[in-house]
Amino acid sequence: MTLGRTGILLIVLLKATLAFGQGNGKLQLHFVDVGQGDGAVLISPRGEVVLFDHGVLNGCGLVLSYLERLALTRIDYLISSHYHADHIGCTEEVLRQFPLVKEAFDRGGAYSSATFNRYVAAVDSHRTTATANGTLTLDATSADPVQITFVALNGDGLTTQDENSLSLASVVRYGQFTAEISGDLTGTVVGAAVDVETQVGPRVGPLDVYKVHHHCSKYSTNDNWLLATTPTVAIVSAGNGNSYGHPAPDCLTRLHTANAKTYWTEFGSGAAEPDPAFDMVAGDILIETLADPVVQTFTVSYTGGLSDTYRVRGQIPVVPGADGPAHDEPREQVERRRAVQLPAAADDELGRVAHPALIRTGRLKSAIQWIANVWAHRRLA
Ligand SMILES: [Zn+2]
Repeated sequence: MTLGRTGILLIVLLKATLAFGQGNGKLQLHFVDVGQGDGAVLISPRGEVVLFDHGVLNGCGLVLSYLERLALTRIDYLISSHYHADHIGCTEEVLRQFPLVKEAFDRGGAYSSATFNRYVAAVDSHRTTATANGTLTLDATSADPVQITFVALNGDGLTTQDENSLSLASVVRYGQFTAEISGDLTGTVVGAAVDVETQVGPRVGPLDVYKVHHHCSKYSTNDNWLLATTPTVAIVSAGNGNSYGHPAPDCLTRLHTANAKTYWTEFGSGAAEPDPAFDMVAGDILIETLADPVVQTFTVSYTGGLSDTYRVRGQIPVVPGADGPAHDEPREQVERRRAVQLPAAADDELGRVAHPALIRTGRLKSAIQWIANVWAHRRLA
């Protein structure tokens, strides 16, 4: 009887939550298929919207149509990794349709290109130079806020003029979940580029979701980075027929050796064929997770209504035999360890939020916390 009343209360409060922005009570990370570039939308459980890069110059229809489908009305924060046109190519178009409310964080400085000049004009007085180790907090009054920390920028102290190496690196934390989104950060000393990954990796630690640096070029995602971060899921954002060879076979081999499951926005250049054991050409990719102090999971949803669910790692030490990854662990064992069977979710919006699952598994404490969060938000809205 008590659970029945709780369920009714959940439905009422959930409707109130859905009415505010596009928050659905979970952290959402949308990796948009923008072609040969990067574009990701973070929506906090209470509906704050952060755009991490936003697509490719002269190809803005992809990101604009995706943002329209999300029915967004504004962007709260813009975080630009660096100034190449495959990352900041649509600032003017996006912000004209979805006004920026708060800061546009970037690495500061300047870059010699018309696209950069358009970016600066579009973000105008919102432009803010990120601070190393600075943290942006979303849902600040929630018991489970979302925190975005800038873990590196401008080469992390290394001397370089390579625009990719200068990328602003961001780590997203929510509950026990951790993701990293850092544009085209580099892991190889080649040309003007420097190895930023090796020194940043240990500060980032284990990752549930890794937005693969530099579209999985052969100069990104080095072994030191993977040893430090051991990502469960890796997102490869690359466009069909690209002339850069992305994703590169070397990069993919390193990810496979690290037992990362990869999801690609597109097939890419054809330099590497997806390995069915590890790789999925997925189109637009949505990752969702609900904070849970006991067992937190995250779901990856993609083309064709398919989805996979994984257990959140938490800050588990990277030692063989623990629940973290072990690099000599058999693939089948890794898959079994990561697979988490959840009760079948209903197709409607209430079912997708999965609170009935929380109740069914007896984790009433989490449900009560969630109600308190929603109630607190309702009073603020
Ligand atoms: Zn790029």
